[in-house]
Amino acid sequence: MAYQSINPANGEVLRSFDQHTDEEMQSALATADNTYRHIWSRMAIRDRAKIVGRAASLMLERKESLARLASLEMGKRISESRSEVELSAAILQYYAENAEAFLSPRIIQSKAGYARLEYSPLGVLIGVQPWNYPYYQLARFAAPQLMAGNVLLVKHASGVPQCALAFEQLFTDAGSPAGAYTNLFLSSEQVGTLIDDPRIRGVALTGSERAGESLAARAGKNLKKSTMELGGSDAFIVLQDCDLEYAVNMAVEGRMSNAGQTCIGSKRFIVVGARAEQFLNAFRDALEQLKPGDPLDETTTLAPLSSDAALNLLLNQVREAITHGARVVTGGDRLGKVGAYMQPTILTNVFPDNPAYRQEFFGPVALFFTAKDEDEAIAIANDSPFGLGGSVYTSDIEHGKQVASRIETGMVFINYPAMSAPDLPFGGIKRSGYGKELSNLGIEEFVNKKLIWVAPSPALAS
Ligand code: NAP
Repeated sequence: MAYQSINPANGEVLRSFDQHTDEEMQSALATADNTYRHIWSRMAIRDRAKIVGRAASLMLERKESLARLASLEMGKRISESRSEVELSAAILQYYAENAEAFLSPRIIQSKAGYARLEYSPLGVLIGVQPWNYPYYQLARFAAPQLMAGNVLLVKHASGVPQCALAFEQLFTDAGSPAGAYTNLFLSSEQVGTLIDDPRIRGVALTGSERAGESLAARAGKNLKKSTMELGGSDAFIVLQDCDLEYAVNMAVEGRMSNAGQTCIGSKRFIVVGARAEQFLNAFRDALEQLKPGDPLDETTTLAPLSSDAALNLLLNQVREAITHGARVVTGGDRLGKVGAYMQPTILTNVFPDNPAYRQEFFGPVALFFTAKDEDEAIAIANDSPFGLGGSVYTSDIEHGKQVASRIETGMVFINYPAMSAPDLPFGGIKRSGYGKELSNLGIEEFVNKKLIWVAPSPALAS
């Protein structure tokens, strides 16, 4: 069964779902296309806002059951699941309130005469989304694109089918017409077939590099717009003037939130100067204090990974890193026999000839580096195939901003590991992908920015 909910804390199979057939997929596409042409794109933006706003309210009303579902399906600690539901609802509400202003036509002050830029939707989009934030990822895609007037076919990750259905239900219950937001349980091949269909006008993926290469190529072959939100290996740069205790607390937060399965999680810790050893010891001690347990237990501080497969992948990466010379400061192995638990791990002595140096570790594994000075720290940070986020710790904020400007990523945070809010743009460069989500930039990705120009009167006369 391709789509299965399995509780990663104990391996229990919760529910299984059949994949949609090709006929069901084609029928969903036809409905979506019809809804786009005849209903959704013609609806006043205020009416779309009422539906998306109602979905936001329903999400908050259902916070506890939605949070529980996420914790059961992918192992997130319950307090993190609740925060995710709140943030997802805030994203829906933000676009319900602001889309009209973002998409209002604007006059271009041009010497060529009267010129106006207006925004119109593209049509049916396909979104392919990951399991690590099973609601937030959907909200980041759905809220702006629905408000822009596009309609959506969504293929969620195969491990979170119940979250996928619960999110779709929000729009149904909020009164959206059939075909505006459709969840589909599809194979990769079926996604490819959809991308080839002329009725699909855009592709948005959040996922791994591997999936990005495949979907971006397919979209490119069809000359279709795509956005790719892919992996990262964010640097956490500790400058000499920072509050070390605070930085260590942030390091634990940055590496361990969502059990380390965050694209903008801190993954490479780069400490400048003489306090590196002090930082490393304190970081190790803090990680060793974490308490594994059931994600639904409020006192648990170390949750399982999302699945056995995710755990095995990470264990293999750690073993390979060790074979190539990495030293284990703490952890390095699975935790217990039941559930997909991984020991929080720190690896040092990871040099450029070690494959680990250029890999993303999607779980509680930190790579630790020392740098002789700030320039070397920045050089290590930038020596990565990824370019998603990163953070800098310093007591001199103005200096921190200068360091941030030298880091080659899409986002840099000062004195905090990573921040996501509805009005902050999110996205990376290099192998972390392209395009932005959230803020006004997110809603501009899949719209036709159309120029309307009027000939000045002398041109009319001639
Ligand atoms: P993944 O394997 O790429 O899966 C993501 C989604 O893509 C799933 O729905 C998956 O379906 C689907 N998929 C995979 N290969 C596909 C293909 N060839 N054609 C069509 N669909 C395909 O990623 P993951 O390992 O689950 O997620 C973790 C990755 O996502 C990490 O690298 C993380 O950094 C990245 N991520 C990035 C962001 C960001 O905003 N930049 C946010 C979150 C996560 P199945 O589940 O059915 O395989």
